[in-house]
Amino acid sequence: MTTATRYSSDLASQRRRMLIILGRLAKEYPGKFEGLNFTTPFQLLIATILSAQCTDERVNSITPKLFATYRTPEDFASIPLEKLAQDIKPTGYYNAKARNIQACCRILIEKFGGTVPRTREELIQLPGVGRKTANVVLSQAFGEQTITVDTHVGRLANRLGFVTTPDPLQIETALMDITPQQRWNDIGNLFITHGRKVCTARKPHCDRCILADLCPSALVIPQGKPAGMSKRQIARARVDTRSSRTAATSQPDHQPRRIRSRK
Ligand code: SF4
Repeated sequence: MTTATRYSSDLASQRRRMLIILGRLAKEYPGKFEGLNFTTPFQLLIATILSAQCTDERVNSITPKLFATYRTPEDFASIPLEKLAQDIKPTGYYNAKARNIQACCRILIEKFGGTVPRTREELIQLPGVGRKTANVVLSQAFGEQTITVDTHVGRLANRLGFVTTPDPLQIETALMDITPQQRWNDIGNLFITHGRKVCTARKPHCDRCILADLCPSALVIPQGKPAGMSKRQIARARVDTRSSRTAATSQPDHQPRRIRSRK
């Protein structure tokens, strides 16, 4: 792939680049995805509600005791709200989360026989469950292929030049367009891992990133030399990237975006 086509906005080039990126990330992060711990779809649903504005690590630190104490929707629905709020306090926004969990459990009991529904339409009817949470449950608990757009996936999709929007639904739709369906779950798992370890929000480490030669932001975020590129390649790529940006102005959906590292 030449530098000129590497960042091209046409769909075929974007699809090729996405497959290469997923291939490299899969090799780099071959182990099991480190996400929320759970053993049943119901536990994952509760853990995902708790993970709003909170790290998976912190949620995982309280769920073993929580799930040992409360096992069913009936258990969660029947305890005093204040008690549940105290039990989940470390995850933040605990009053709102406790209210959502209890309301969610009551609906599970009344409408779904105490089980977690298996469709997105039904899941998003539950309090505290939006499209992102529904996608997590569908993919991780039921094995469906979905693209979960959290903060890491949104950031990487923009930095990698696949989208120029903060809107999760637009990002999800754009990524679905350029990724074979059987790889949709990989995007969540691999982008999140790369976002945590290398392409971090505060300071992306382009100088040690295995995607540097495929990423338009590596050429504009001011820092060390991107991995695997000589000074001459970087200089040539900068010129090519500027030209392809100018040429792509008529197709705003797929322009690479300039991202500055935050202090
Ligand atoms: S090259 Fe930099 S901006 Fe691009 S994915 Fe890697 S760390 Fe992120």
